[in-house]
Formats: sequence, structure tokens, C-alpha cells
Amino acid sequence: MSNLMKAIIKNAPEKGGLILKDIPVPQITETEVLVKMKITAICGTDIHIYNWDEWAQRTIKTPQVIGHEFVGEVVEIGKQVKNVKVGDLVSAEGHLVCGKCRHCITGNPHLCRQTVGIGVNMDGVFSEYAAIPATNIWICDPSVSIDVLSVQDPLGNAVHTALAFNVLGEDVLITGAGPIGLMSIPIIKRAGARNIVVTDINSKRLEMAKELGATATVNVLEEKLHEKMRTFKGMQEGFDVGLEMSGSANAFKDMTEAMANGGKIAVLGILPSETKVDWNKVIFNSLTVKGIYGRQMYDTWYRMSALLQSGLDKEVEKVITHRFDFVDFQEAFDLMASGDSGKVILNW
Ligand code: NAD
Ligand code: ZN
Repeated sequence: MSNLMKAIIKNAPEKGGLILKDIPVPQITETEVLVKMKITAICGTDIHIYNWDEWAQRTIKTPQVIGHEFVGEVVEIGKQVKNVKVGDLVSAEGHLVCGKCRHCITGNPHLCRQTVGIGVNMDGVFSEYAAIPATNIWICDPSVSIDVLSVQDPLGNAVHTALAFNVLGEDVLITGAGPIGLMSIPIIKRAGARNIVVTDINSKRLEMAKELGATATVNVLEEKLHEKMRTFKGMQEGFDVGLEMSGSANAFKDMTEAMANGGKIAVLGILPSETKVDWNKVIFNSLTVKGIYGRQMYDTWYRMSALLQSGLDKEVEKVITHRFDFVDFQEAFDLMASGDSGKVILNW
């Protein structure tokens, strides 16, 4: 193995600013494993970093290797590593937790306040090799499509959000048909919902939502959700469960107005901090609003693997619309930033 490897680096604190550079292959510690990348996927977070928005400016220290969604092969393990072996096909949970706080020691590490994000607060995985703490490694089933294995991080967001509330026999509204909203549809379907209504402002994405099993779609630029509601089979008062997956304040407002009394909302989309909420809708309509961050460690990963082994992989595959070699990363980022794609993946 040569001591240098190619990596995609956010080189300067400015919009764009991604370069491909030769950097040293990382040295693993006793508790880490070295992964040789096979496929990485571009996340919305990477686009925030690419666009250098307010959040990225506050969070990212350049120069930094970006990226956190991947699948690869273990080529070396640290002396103390027992749970992973050389040759394993792996992905990883991108949130590193402290392992010591009250939530970490009581089985809720997804609530750890010391969470550090791979490719956000430290070097990421858009490189030929990456050193990953063994604690966070998830061993993958090689019979599942390798492309699908590369998007388990966002699929895990979808699983975590979709299963936040019971949807059996319920009417579900999903705002936002981005990759995560799209991947939620077949999960909600399996969990037994009656109506699965998906909103977006992008008609191509709404077409994909239909293909993935949405019972109805609403382009909120062209139609009003509340005017279409009486056409949904059997629905009386409004939605029982809402999954906010757009990060749009308007979508969140539409959702609070479309819920049945007693409805439950899981919010994954990262809303602008100045988002206004009509609290009286929440109070008088007895709504429950639950924030969702990341994936449950490792309940979400376990369920996701089981779902992939029982056919969900075929549906997730449809959300992956473009494949590039890593050297063509610029084209891939421009496409992903345009919104005219599902998931975009890079081959290493
Ligand atoms: P994405 O940006 O690709 O998708 C968002 C979709 O919402 C787009 O298709 C957009 O057209 C649509 N949209 C915009 N305005 C809308 C409106 N008024 N009504 C309905 N839809 C509208 O994002 P993604 O990668 O699918 O992720 C979904 C959201 O989840 C994003 O906000 C992302 O930042 C967030 N996220 C949160 C976590 C977490 O841990 N909480 C993790 C990953 C992603
Ligand atoms: Zn902790």
C-alpha cells in the first residue's frame, strides 16, 4: 500500500472549494479499523458544507476531508479490536459518542451531548481509506446490493423517523420527497399505514414518491394540501402521523394545519432557527412533536439490516439515481445540489 491516498477535501472557507488531494493514509489507533472505501454517498450535510451556508461556516474547520456515508472493506484492525475482522464488509454509524454520560451508559447513546460527527467535526470518509473507531462499525450482509449498503446512514434516519410512532392503520403525511422522505415511504407502507401522502415542490421527486408507494402526492406550489384532503381514502379529520422531512418552515406549517387532533409529528428536517410555530395548534389540537436526530444506536441499524434482508433493498435501490467515479466528484456535487436527483453515489 502506498502511503498516500486520494481524498475529497473542503479546502477553503468559501462556497464550493472542494479539491481532490493526495494525503497520507491514516494510521489507526488500537481501537480503530482501517477501511478501504468501495462506495460513498453524498448527503444533504455534504451539500451544506459545499454551499458553505451559515451552519457550515459555524461548524467546519477547513481543510477537512468530508463525507460520512460509506461502505467499504476492513483492511487492518487495531490491537484491541475484537468485534471486526480484516475482510469484513462494513459501514459505520457516523455519530461518535462519549460512552460515559448518563445517556450513553443507560442505553441511549443517540442522546449523548458530546456527539461528534464523522466528516463534520473531524475528517470524513471521502477518501480511499478511512480510520473508523471499531465501536461504530456496522458489519454488512454482502448479499445486499453494495450501492444500497452505502446509504444506510440516511436510510437509518428514515427508519428512525418512520418508526417513531405506530402507523398501523393510520394516515401518514410526509413533507419533503428528498432521498430520506422517499426512503421512508416503503418503510411506512410495510408498517401498515392506510394513506401515505407526500408533499414537495419538485414534481420529479413526487413522481419517484408515487413509484415507491405513496398513495397520493401534492405539489404544494400547484395545489393546497387542505383542499385535497377530502380525496384521501377514509380520512376524516386529518393525518394521524406526520414525518417532517423537508427542513422547510412552510412545510412544517402545512403539517401542523393538516393533523387530526391528537396527531403525532416526528421532525427530522432541519428547520431554519427563525421558524414560527403556531403553538395554539399544538396545544388545542393536542399534538405531539418529537425531534429526531440521527439513528438509534444500534436499534435502528439492526432493524434496517433486517428490513434490507427482507426486500426493502429493492425499493431503496430506486432512490439511488446517479453513480459517479470519485474523480468526477464536482459533477456529482453539482447534480446533488441542483435537487434534480435522488441519492448520488461515488465509486472509489
Ligand atoms: P433534501 O433537501 O434532499 O430534501 C428536502 C425536500 O423537501 C426537497 O425535495 C425539497 O424540494 C422539499 N421541500 C422544500 N420545500 C418544501 C415544502 N414547502 N413542502 C414540501 N416539501 C418541500 O433532504 P434529505 O437529504 O432528504 O433530508 C431531509 C431533511 O432531513 C433535510 O432537512 C436534512 O437536513 C434533514 N436531516 C436531518 C437529520 C437529523 O438527524 N435530524 C439527518 C439527516 C438529514
Ligand atoms: Zn455520552
